[in-house]
Amino acid sequence: MADNYQKICVHCQRPAVYFDRVRKIHLCRDHLMAFVEGQVLSYLKKIRLPPVIGIAFSGGKDSTALLKAFCRIRSELPCSFLALTVDEGIEGYRQDTIQAAEEICKTLDVPHQIIRFHDVFGHSLDQLVAGSERNACTICGILRRRALEMLAKEQKIRVIATGHNQDDHAQTALMNAISADVKKTFTGLAESSWYTRRIKPFSEVSEREVTLYAMLNGLFRNLPECPYAVSSLRGEVRTLLYRYERDHPGSMRNAARFEEEIRERLGDLFIRDSYQACIHCGWPGSGRVCQVCAVLQEKRIT
Ligand code: SF4
Repeated sequence: MADNYQKICVHCQRPAVYFDRVRKIHLCRDHLMAFVEGQVLSYLKKIRLPPVIGIAFSGGKDSTALLKAFCRIRSELPCSFLALTVDEGIEGYRQDTIQAAEEICKTLDVPHQIIRFHDVFGHSLDQLVAGSERNACTICGILRRRALEMLAKEQKIRVIATGHNQDDHAQTALMNAISADVKKTFTGLAESSWYTRRIKPFSEVSEREVTLYAMLNGLFRNLPECPYAVSSLRGEVRTLLYRYERDHPGSMRNAARFEEEIRERLGDLFIRDSYQACIHCGWPGSGRVCQVCAVLQEKRIT
């Protein structure tokens, strides 16, 4: 961003704070904020929203930016919202982000609910992945989805907005391709009638834009990174995609849209795949035992 510092906003001629390499335009602070909020609003306008929706809120920059955007466009929304946080139990990381989440909700005057792995699964993530840390993100993802779902049901929430941005989508698309995991591309579609609907208002907003939005709103905090992130495939894929994006602007957006289009065009084939109730917990899954119970069984703690 430093090399574009002296450039002028395409809309108002004020000093630019951001250069959009895909659209090849400079934006000032106000127009960058307006762009991000406009993307969120136009995404939400395409959806029939219930009176209250949940915002998955980790306290990290993406979900913080999303919560702030919701607050700033609050008067234009047909619904109210509350923040939902999952505490996975990750030593040296989660305490700080939970504290940040609580402070931000207080500042923004947003109601806030927290659910903890330890309370619902009997163990923290640290305990569950001890000895198999490389699988931490997979296990975390499976259990967090369930925990968030439990909290949503408890709060009678039918739609949850998540802070996933365009870069996250692109990374997921590439990870699914690398692991030849076609089914993962359609995660959640088969059981969608059971689950709370997930929406992603930042799906057309890049990570740089989200980060800058959080910074411009004074909400960017130097929080510790999850200790398991370094050993994840996602970290490697992220580095790779950044390189592509630098050399070929638009790669990130195209990869994200590629997966979205596949989901839209071929999703019906997977929705037809039947799902069944887990023999242990009764929640839906693709086999006799759902993924959550499979994880817990593997750790011999069911
Ligand atoms: Fe969970 Fe992995 Fe994210 Fe850490 S980096 S919170 S383990 S998904």
